[in-house]
Amino acid sequence: MQNLLSEAASRAAAYLDGLPSREAGPLPGSVERLIRALEGPLPGGPSVAEDVLAFLDDYGSPATVASAGGRYFGFVTGGALPATLAAQYLAAAWDQNSFSFVSSPAVACFEAAALRWVKEALGLPAVAEGALVTGATMANFTCLAAARNHVLARAGWDVDRQGLFGAPEPTVVVGGEAHASLFKVLSLLGLGRDRVLRVEADGQGRLRADRLPPVDGPVIVCIQAGNVNSGAFDPAEEVVAWARQRDAWVHVDGAFGLWALASSELAPLAQGFREADSWATDAHKWLNVPYDSGIALVRDAEVLAKAMSISGSYLLPSTHRDAMNVTPDSSRRARAIEVWAALKALGRSGLADMIERNCRQARRLAEGLRDGGVEILNEVVLNQVVACFGDDARTQRVIAAVQDDGTCWCGGTSWKGRAAMRISVSSWATSDDDIERSLAAILAAHREA
Ligand SMILES: *Cc1c(COP(=O)(O)O)cnc(C)c1O
Repeated sequence: MQNLLSEAASRAAAYLDGLPSREAGPLPGSVERLIRALEGPLPGGPSVAEDVLAFLDDYGSPATVASAGGRYFGFVTGGALPATLAAQYLAAAWDQNSFSFVSSPAVACFEAAALRWVKEALGLPAVAEGALVTGATMANFTCLAAARNHVLARAGWDVDRQGLFGAPEPTVVVGGEAHASLFKVLSLLGLGRDRVLRVEADGQGRLRADRLPPVDGPVIVCIQAGNVNSGAFDPAEEVVAWARQRDAWVHVDGAFGLWALASSELAPLAQGFREADSWATDAHKWLNVPYDSGIALVRDAEVLAKAMSISGSYLLPSTHRDAMNVTPDSSRRARAIEVWAALKALGRSGLADMIERNCRQARRLAEGLRDGGVEILNEVVLNQVVACFGDDARTQRVIAAVQDDGTCWCGGTSWKGRAAMRISVSSWATSDDDIERSLAAILAAHREA
């Protein structure tokens, strides 16, 4: 076991050491090579673990995207802080089932501490209960299940027991640029993708508070901390005031933007977001823990527990907090370990520094691109830059050329009806030198196009 795990660690370290000098995307030909290598049938008999590991490294590592490195700016992708990667190794050895206190007292304790620290870091209410889930999609799901059940309970309907057939109709209000995954969540919750009210967004993708509809009855309003393209924040203070007049539930999708609250410099962007009823965020984006890791927080702990608890006398009553009663999952991995390790390793100041550094790097990229004649479509308020290189075809050519060059990796998006390059600076591993090298590569592709 010692040899095997050392081998895994040394292969992992060699992989990470190699990232600065390799392409940001998969190595040329590596994906085709992997596909061919995986074509064989189910092996007739066993292989030794060292060979399994060697296969993964030989064929898998070259075909990965270098998102653990400093020059991967695709989607909104964090890296993995060294302490969190090491913590994940150890937690993998523990192999704890963290569904309840008795199934893993250790993880239950780390989970309580991790959630407490997350709330402290973001300045969210200490009374809020949390669920560690796979990502912001499931965090939105968890929060909105609680929201749905609560607003309908106030209208005299018990969703938990009666389901949704015959229920009073809740009104769900979202911004015009709500994240695509939110609509999937609403569909999973029986609230429908198409029956939500979409409030017009402004030029930066912010919900326009002056267009909030005159609704009553059970209402849930979803606002965003961090538009996935522009990084903009919805006007939370105005939405919360509107919601309070209607006894509406305010939910925040803050997959990455919520982390602005961890920085006193950036927190003013997220004014009013702390007044919401629930918050969904990712840990695998800006907190820089390994995949997969999302966090749901609900101000009223009892409401979350009512929506998520395993009913019936499945097990003997417990006097402890059992995660299965606040999350959609039962058996689950120990996500708390990496969240705790990130916050322990960074501390309040390290977390703020990382968030602020990425924002400064995004501003530098935007400024350098603008100086090179590139049109920047968004106000760069956070870590996101949306760049346009001319008409759609030209922009797409530049994106393809940048990916082909491999110095950095940036993806495409469609924003306000135009093709654009979206650059998201979200990694602890991104150095100022990475930014300069990436800037030069993008400008070279722009010139050549
Ligand atoms: C990334 C993102 C999501 C989805 O998060 P996952 O971690 O992929 O589940 C939802 N909302 C916003 C604003 C996002 O940026």
